[in-house]
Amino acid sequence: MEQMIDAAIIGGGPAGLSAALVLGRARKSVVVIDEGRPRNRVTRETHGFLTRDGISPGEFRRVAKEQISAYPTVHFVEDAAVSITGTDGHFQITTAQGQIYQSKKLLFAAGMKDIPLDINGLSEVYGKSAFVCPYCDGWELRDQPLVLIVKGDRALHSAKMLSGWTSQITICTDGPDEWTDEQREELKLHNVPTFNSPILRIESSDGMVKQIVLEDGTIVPCTGIFFAPKLAAGSDLPQTLGCKVTEAGTVFVDMFGKTNIPGIYGAGDAATELYQAITAASMGSLAAVGINSELLAEAWNSRV
Ligand SMILES: Cc1cc2nc3c(=O)[nH]c(=O)nc-3n(C[C@H](O)[C@H](O)[C@H](O)COP(=O)(O)OP(=O)(O)OC[C@H]3O[C@@H](n4cnc5c(N)ncnc54)[C@H](O)[C@@H]3O)c2cc1C
Repeated sequence: MEQMIDAAIIGGGPAGLSAALVLGRARKSVVVIDEGRPRNRVTRETHGFLTRDGISPGEFRRVAKEQISAYPTVHFVEDAAVSITGTDGHFQITTAQGQIYQSKKLLFAAGMKDIPLDINGLSEVYGKSAFVCPYCDGWELRDQPLVLIVKGDRALHSAKMLSGWTSQITICTDGPDEWTDEQREELKLHNVPTFNSPILRIESSDGMVKQIVLEDGTIVPCTGIFFAPKLAAGSDLPQTLGCKVTEAGTVFVDMFGKTNIPGIYGAGDAATELYQAITAASMGSLAAVGINSELLAEAWNSRV
């Protein structure tokens, strides 16, 4: 695409698609470059998105793209952005397939990605009976015997949160628990069984966990697992362009998605640690308003 477009959006999940919808309706030219590897592709259903509770991630994207297609200035490209140069008003994006796009503004909506899971059997159940967020999947596992795989300071927080969905919680720390005596005492007071032997394997059938086998021979039966995933930024490109990022790898943004680098915006999982589809969509919408306001002001001022 030779011509200068108003905004290039990197990532076509809830954040990027929501931004594309708002910018398309604002009559801005947009390209959404998406390689199609969202973190939630392992899961069958997305919950908690008003009017879309239980929709599959694939169907969510299909409906979104169908609706956005009504706005002729938005174009979708199935490709990965591999390098970006330039500054506010003129960015140049090169893709893995060798295409070049030029845009006035940039929006990073590239999400986060999982670092491969290192527990034997976890990838078979991830997204089916092992999850990362009780708000997303706690309801489906309510009142069931669940295992939390967690250690250190996060354990108490996670146990407290999960207690809203079930009272049958067991913690497996998969190695040294890294707790203080007070933390151990608090878990004991709340009758939370804990095991610190390393996990040998997770046994399951058709994605549904049956039990966790520990190295010391202990068997922990359960019907669901929650664990803390290890994550990395979906794209390193914001950092290469000078955007400030948090320790978790998310881009620092203001309410309208603006980063510290002029013309560059961030939205969704790439810019918050509240990993929720509706939050991502909301941030995409706000970033689109930010981008549109900036484009309108620039066009207005250039006329005098
Ligand atoms: C197992 C699991 C279950 C979940 N369940 C729920 C749920 O029930 N309810 C809920 O609200 N949330 C849920 N989530 C969280 C939810 O999926 C995310 O919060 C949401 O998808 C974030 O949207 P996003 O647009 O920011 O990023 P994503 O949806 O991750 O989309 C980012 C896109 O950018 C693309 N991309 C990355 N880098 C590049 C690049 N360089 N060039 C081009 N494209 C690129 C990726 O391939 C991807 O397609 C779940 C997450 C997981 C992991």
